[in-house]
Amino acid sequence: MLARTDLRGRTPSTAELRAALPRGGVDVDAVLHRVRPVVEAVRDRGAVAALEFGEQFDGVRPEQVRVPAAELERALGELDPDVRSALEVAIERTRKVHADQRRIDTVTEVVPGGTVTERWVPVDRVGLYVPGGNAVYPSSVVMNVVPAQQAGVRSLVVTSPPQAEFGGLPHPTVLAACALLGVTEVWAVGGGQAVALLTYGGTDTDGGELAPVDMITGPGNIYVTAAKRLCRGLVGIDAEAGPTEIAILADRTADPVHVAADLISQAEHDVMAASVLVTDSPELADAVDDALARQLAVTKHRARVAEALSGEQSGIILVSSVADGLRVVNAYAAEHLEIQTADASQVAQSVTSAGAVFVGPWAPVSLGDYCAGSNHVLPTAGCARHSSGLSVQTFLRGIHVVDYSQDALADVAKHVVALANAEDLPAHGEAVRLRFEELLPEDER
Ligand code: NAD
Repeated sequence: MLARTDLRGRTPSTAELRAALPRGGVDVDAVLHRVRPVVEAVRDRGAVAALEFGEQFDGVRPEQVRVPAAELERALGELDPDVRSALEVAIERTRKVHADQRRIDTVTEVVPGGTVTERWVPVDRVGLYVPGGNAVYPSSVVMNVVPAQQAGVRSLVVTSPPQAEFGGLPHPTVLAACALLGVTEVWAVGGGQAVALLTYGGTDTDGGELAPVDMITGPGNIYVTAAKRLCRGLVGIDAEAGPTEIAILADRTADPVHVAADLISQAEHDVMAASVLVTDSPELADAVDDALARQLAVTKHRARVAEALSGEQSGIILVSSVADGLRVVNAYAAEHLEIQTADASQVAQSVTSAGAVFVGPWAPVSLGDYCAGSNHVLPTAGCARHSSGLSVQTFLRGIHVVDYSQDALADVAKHVVALANAEDLPAHGEAVRLRFEELLPEDER
C-alpha cells in the first residue's frame, strides 16, 4: 500500500537522493497574506484583537487572555490520576536528561593578562506555544517548559488556543500539565494571534499586563508557523516546525508488525505526516504492507492515517544493503529515525543526520514522544542536516566577555592596526594606537 522507490543497484548522488526521496511539506508562503493582517491587528489593538480572532477561528471568546490561577489548580485537581502519574514520570525523565545539558561557562587565558570568557545566559522571558487545534498536547508542555526551566529562564508564559468545549479555556490537561510544572502564567490564545501577542504584548481586558517575550518556541500548524516567520527578528524563534516524520531503517530481522505500528503512530498526527521505510529486504517490505492494511482497519484515526500513508511524502525505499540504507536516511535527515536492523547500535553510530535516533526493537518513537527523557520538539523537513531539537541550549545565549590588561593589548596592538588598515578601517586601528601614544617614541605618535 505504500508507494515504492527502488534504488537497488544504483548509487545516486546526494542531490539525486534528495530529489528521489518522498517528502511533503507545507507552503507557508501561501498563507502569509492571511496571517499578516492578524499579526498587524494584534500589534495595533492588542488583546482585544487577539480575542476577536479566537472567536473567529476557535469559535469561542474568553473574557480575558490570562487564565485565572484558580483554573490551573482546578484542572490539576480534576486530572485523571493515571494521566497525572504519566505526566510526572515524563517530567522527571525529561528533567533528568535536560539537567545534564546545561553548558558550563568557559574561561580561556589567550595570553597572560588576556582572557575570553564564554558566559551562558538564559533568555529572560519566553513564550511557549502549545497547539490545541485538532488534538491536545500536554506532552508538548513538558517538552517546552522543562528545558526552559533547566536553562534558568526567569519568566515563562504558556499559550494555547481557547476551547469552546471548556468555556474558552485551553484544554484542562494542558492547564494541569502547566500546574504540575509550576507554570503560573497561561494565556488562552492560539494561532497567529498568539504569536503576535507574545511578540508585541498588550493589556488584558481586566487591565493586567501581557508582557512581550524575547523568544517563542513550540510547534503549531501552518498559521502559527507563518506568524513565527513574520515576527522572527522582533522575537527569537526555535524553528519552523513542519509536519511530523518517521523514517525506519530496517532489515529482514525487523518485526513487520512493529514497523507497521510505528509508521502508523506518526501518520496519526496529521494527513501531511510522513512515514518512510528504508529496507534492503523486499520480503520485509511486503510483510509491512500486509501489517499496515490489517492495523489500518482498526486504528482510531483511520482516515487521517490512510491519507498520510498514501500521500507523496510517505513510501518504501528499497536499497541493496543496510550501508546504502544509511546513505539514504542520512540524506533524508528525518525528524525521527528508527534503526531496526541486526546490530542496531552499531548501525546507529553511522547516522549523521536525524532529529532523534531510536535504536533497536524496544525504542519506538512513541517512547520518545512521551517518556524517554529525550525532547520531542525536533527538526523536520530535512532541517536535521543543520539543526537540533529543542534543548536547554535553545534557551541560552553565549556571551563572550573579553578582558585584556594594558600589557596584553600592547602585545597585540600592531596586529590589530595591520588588520584594520588591511580592511580600510583605520579608525579601528586608531582606537588601539592612541591608547599607547604616550608610550611611543615621539616621532611615532
Ligand atoms: P494549533 O494550535 O497549531 O492551531 C490552531 C490555531 O490555528 C487556532 O487557534 C486558530 O486560531 C488558528 N487557525 C485555524 N484556522 C485558521 C485560519 N483559517 N486562519 C488563521 N488561523 C487559523 O493546532 P493544530 O491545528 O492542531 O496544529 C498543531 C500542529 O502541531 C500539527 O501539525 C501537529 O502535527 C504539530 N505538532 C508538532 C509537534 C512536534 O513536536 N513537532 C508536537 C505537537 C504537535
